[in-house]
Amino acid sequence: MAQHFLLSRAAKTLSLASIFTMKDEEAEMAFRRVRWADTDSAPVCPHCGGTDAYDCRRLKGAPRFRCRACTKDFSITSGTLFASHKLPLRCYLAAIAIFCNEVKGKSALALSRDLNVSYKCAFVLLHKLREAMAEELKGRVVGGEGKVAEVDGGYFGGYVKPANLKAERRDRRFRQNKSGKRKVVVIVRERGGNSLPAVFKSEGAAYSFLRSHIAPGTVVNADEANSWDELHKRFEVKRINHQEAYSLDGACTNWAEEFFSRMRRAEIGHHHHIAGQYLLRYAQEASWREDNRRESNGAQVERLSGLAMNRKPSVDFSGYWQRAKAADGKAAAF
Ligand SMILES: [Zn+2]
Repeated sequence: MAQHFLLSRAAKTLSLASIFTMKDEEAEMAFRRVRWADTDSAPVCPHCGGTDAYDCRRLKGAPRFRCRACTKDFSITSGTLFASHKLPLRCYLAAIAIFCNEVKGKSALALSRDLNVSYKCAFVLLHKLREAMAEELKGRVVGGEGKVAEVDGGYFGGYVKPANLKAERRDRRFRQNKSGKRKVVVIVRERGGNSLPAVFKSEGAAYSFLRSHIAPGTVVNADEANSWDELHKRFEVKRINHQEAYSLDGACTNWAEEFFSRMRRAEIGHHHHIAGQYLLRYAQEASWREDNRRESNGAQVERLSGLAMNRKPSVDFSGYWQRAKAADGKAAAF
């Protein structure tokens, strides 16, 4: 039997032990390599784009550079997702490695224990990494002439707890007994290729997203749910009735189901609750993990740190808790 990729030597190219024994300069160099890849890790001023900068390290050792052209100071993370970071860079590298090593997901509480940081810090850090992953999905179009893609939906959130006494329980299948907060993650995934998720109120609302993100000429596979009927207008569609078979005459949605398997395991095993405004972020994380599942962990860490270092500071999560505090007029209720 062929060896599973994750069991092979090729899957393991970076260990946490090697990160924690890195010197400060080595951790800095790891980030410089991905941030300034074009200049062979030589610093580039984020203010004026100048390439002539000299080392201007702070007394306590924090790395800084000063641009000769505009005389402004900058750090390795200035203007990136990790701008204004407080922890040593080694910690960020370790966080990325821990996040990549967990193939289904990583809970913020577990990361806070691993790194001895607060839950809030771990929560924001992980969400910034999800933002970095989402960067790779931006503007993605799946499929193409002669290619096959699969479409499917999975529902998350809006759980209604049944009442304790049987007499007080309600049939949760009826609309009036639902919370109205349940949402569907719709995934479109090319067989042997990349995937793209989106979040909607119902599967039926996904048509315009699918129309604009599946390339013309793609053969689309979907299940028998009538929410996918509209796809016939634009694509050649193969339908599979899961009551008859999971795969029949080449029609199946197993690649899409694989994505939901990963996301469901992240929900059950790590987060316990994936819903609400950040549902899309978790879906994008699962999608990135699916697409990069055959990359070694070292390559994944390099890719993710590269995405984080080439992304602007987070809109949602820069100063997240400070803003929550200001909005409440008191400490955030966490
Ligand atoms: Zn400058």
